[in-house]
Amino acid sequence: MVLPSIEKQFADSLKSIARNLEIKEYIQQSPELYPLFLSSAKRFVTGESREDGVSIGDQLVHKGYRISLEFIGENTINKEECVRAKDEFIALIKQCSNRGISSRISFDLSHIGLSVDPELTFQNLLEMAKEAQSHGLSLMISMEESAKTDQILSIYKRVVVEYSNVGVTLQAQLYRTLNDLNELLNYSGEIRIVKGAYQEPSDICIPRSDKLDQRYLELVDLCVRAGHQVSIASHDEAIYKQIIQRGYLQNSNVEAEMLYGIRPELCKQLKDDGLPVRVYLTYGVEWYLYLCHRIAEYPPNIYVAITDMIQGAKDTSKLY
Ligand code: FAD
Repeated sequence: MVLPSIEKQFADSLKSIARNLEIKEYIQQSPELYPLFLSSAKRFVTGESREDGVSIGDQLVHKGYRISLEFIGENTINKEECVRAKDEFIALIKQCSNRGISSRISFDLSHIGLSVDPELTFQNLLEMAKEAQSHGLSLMISMEESAKTDQILSIYKRVVVEYSNVGVTLQAQLYRTLNDLNELLNYSGEIRIVKGAYQEPSDICIPRSDKLDQRYLELVDLCVRAGHQVSIASHDEAIYKQIIQRGYLQNSNVEAEMLYGIRPELCKQLKDDGLPVRVYLTYGVEWYLYLCHRIAEYPPNIYVAITDMIQGAKDTSKLY
């Protein structure tokens, strides 16, 4: 019998703990725990305010990176909060524009209404797309768990026919994605390809494996052959080796995209080789769930998190 490693067991528990509201509130209200967890979060999150995100984004743009910015949040449960989240994204778009930063704005549709009302989500998204377009910025819709895929793609398709500055993320791990991509290539919006962060049933999902990596590359090949704009959103060096061998990063439709705080040395190396690299930056008070996701998807990060708790927050931006 193969026993799961302690790290794997920890990651699985963390996925449940992350969604436990009582634990989250306990940590956020504890004068002892809150600063410790915030120190760990700061490796992956720019800070709690919009200004934190925009100013670190500005620094990275000056170092030659492209950026995405996200105001962290998901599964908003009432209409007022969905509208507040949409207003924050509009304010973010305006602030980037005022500072002359050409950022992509990234977000979950469940942050702006998907768990409350699809029509509200659509209207919020339209308003954001219009505002972004008027400032020459783009939006990127993240992909959430498979139960939401149909709804997310259907809202995306309604919006992208009016606003081609809106793109969508697809998860290579879902078997359905090959068909979805073939359909989405008929729309003009950018496609971001990720492996997939959610635990899904095995009959619909390819686990982390060579097979998944092959599927990932197959999806990229399809985008490139179709002359479609595509973002390779991964921290996997083996994937980048293949992408570079195929000459894709010299193609103006293709870019690499990585999360802030993860493999900054790989970002820097690709950027210094003259390849287009986008760094995905987040900000907001909901950093706790984001931190748990980053540890759960790569359990050795728990040691990094504990070190950051003991030694204090690092300035991740200096690593780029
Ligand atoms: P993996 O096979 O998971 O990892 C490959 C290697 O990368 C690992 O061996 C390790 O060396 C390194 N690595 C990976 N993760 C970490 C980490 N957290 N810390 C340190 N090293 C790490 N998922 C969604 O489901 N929906 C989305 O909308 C979505 N948007 C994303 C946007 C961006 C820009 C990125 C980069 C990822 C996004 N993800 C999203 C997450 C994605 O699905 C994967 O869970 C995540 O990228 C890890 O997969 P990987 O491709 O890096 O490869």
